[in-house]
Amino acid sequence: MTCPGCHEEASSFRRFVLSLQGVTVAQSVQGYLRCQSCGRLLRVVRFQKALWGFLVPSVLLLGMFAVTYPALVRSAGGPPSVLLWFLLLFLILFVFSYGLWRFGELTSVGSTDEEC
Ligand SMILES: [Zn+2]
Repeated sequence: MTCPGCHEEASSFRRFVLSLQGVTVAQSVQGYLRCQSCGRLLRVVRFQKALWGFLVPSVLLLGMFAVTYPALVRSAGGPPSVLLWFLLLFLILFVFSYGLWRFGELTSVGSTDEEC
């Protein structure tokens, strides 16, 4: 995600996933973040269509896994199957977050002052 104000990267992927990016929880939920370079308050306005290229295969994979899950439990046993299920969910969550971060488009919200 590029900051529309300073044209630098507004937030690294690690910062995007692991922190509130300089805003409150309520603001974060609404898609706000603060640019890591210039401190401008930004908001995610839309996502590029390429995001679907990330989401659709993930959902299909999850669906395929759900369909084959009973057979997997029969052949591999319960615990390994549950572990695999969690791994897959984690992977998809990661891919999903990456897609949101990679394809998000930002707009600048007013000045660099606190708002709300
Ligand atoms: Zn900036």
